[in-house]
Amino acid sequence: MKSIFSKIIAREIPAKIIAENDEVIVIEDIAPKAAIHYLIIPKLEVRDIQSLAAQDFQVVEPIFKMAQQLSRTVPGAEHFRLLINNGERAGQRVFHLHVHFLAGQLLGD
Ligand code: AMP
Repeated sequence: MKSIFSKIIAREIPAKIIAENDEVIVIEDIAPKAAIHYLIIPKLEVRDIQSLAAQDFQVVEPIFKMAQQLSRTVPGAEHFRLLINNGERAGQRVFHLHVHFLAGQLLGD
C-alpha cells in the first residue's frame, strides 16, 4: 500500500507543495512545530534508515541539497534544524522516510 507521502507525490491527496525535483518533494507540515516546518521527502518510498539498501543511500544527497536550497531561498530559513524521527519509539508516525526542516520560532504543542 502506498504511504500518505507517496499519495501526495502522486497528487492523489492534497498538500502545500513548496518545492519538487526528480528526487524529492517538499511540503508544509500539516501540524507545524515551528514558524517554518517543511518535510523533505524522497520520492523513493523507503520505510526508514534501517530499510535503506546500499543503492538507496543516494537519496541522502538530494535531501541535503534541498535543505541548502531552502535555506537560500526561503526568507527566515537561513538557519535551520533537520530532524528525522526514525522508528516508532523515536516518534516516527509516517513510515516513509522524511526529514523535518524547521526554522524560525518553535511553536508550543
Ligand atoms: P514523523 O513523526 O516524523 O513520522 O512525522 C510525520 C509528520 O508528518 C508529522 O509532523 C505530521 O504533522 C506530518 N503529516 C502527516 N500527514 C500529513 C499530511 N497529509 N500533510 C502534511 N504533513 C503531514
